[in-house]
Amino acid sequence: MNREEILIANFQKVASALSAACRRSGRDPKEITLLAVTKYAKDSDVLTLLQKGLIKHIGESRVQQAQARWEQPEFARFNTVKHLIGHLQKNKAAKAAQLFDFIDSLDSLETAEALEKNLPQGKTLRTLVQVKLTDKETQSGLPLAEARKLVQDLKKLSHIKVCGYMAIAPQGATEAELRKLFRPLKQAFDEDFSNQPERYLSLGMSEDFETAVEEGSSLPRIGSKLFAENLEGL
Ligand SMILES: *Cc1c(COP(=O)(O)O)cnc(C)c1O
Repeated sequence: MNREEILIANFQKVASALSAACRRSGRDPKEITLLAVTKYAKDSDVLTLLQKGLIKHIGESRVQQAQARWEQPEFARFNTVKHLIGHLQKNKAAKAAQLFDFIDSLDSLETAEALEKNLPQGKTLRTLVQVKLTDKETQSGLPLAEARKLVQDLKKLSHIKVCGYMAIAPQGATEAELRKLFRPLKQAFDEDFSNQPERYLSLGMSEDFETAVEEGSSLPRIGSKLFAENLEGL
């Protein structure tokens, strides 16, 4: 297989694993939006999947790296939905407010206010509040109770639309541990967002997305299973 064929095969493997997880948990695959994490991917690999029309929602970790890539005309011509998934420093808020459609890693009202202040005229920025799942990990995000309070506080900002929660599971967690960490967050998500049509629960990465989807994730974030698997050394 050449590089393009491997990338397409990787995509298809992820797509069928997502459908299988939906079947096992009685969910409709249409409820799931795949967030393709491109932070480590080569430009040419990202362009391959874009040209095939396979990916639309894009996750980048760093504002500057995202800017360098997505402001190039060959990337900008695609109609993508760009998500910031890495921690946002307040001094990068102005750039982030212009570049991204979603900030999935929001963890403070001050940052949200800085984003709102810098939004282009007429733009509404979608956000997810990042929740910290354990206190052992050196994780960013807020403990669940504080995250839920931030969701309420964000409602007073008219151009920031809060659409759900994002969380990163600790590395190496067992399936049982993952389920136990994901469930309270799913429950809070259902309580806080059930009467909002546009909502996302972003759980799961390459190693845990199947469990995450079974537990209710609607926006799994997948990088290495798309852009690294079977490509080392090529
Ligand atoms: C890098 C990253 C991912 C993707 O990780 P993979 O294991 O490569 O799929 C998902 N979410 C966040 C927040 C990340 O930083």
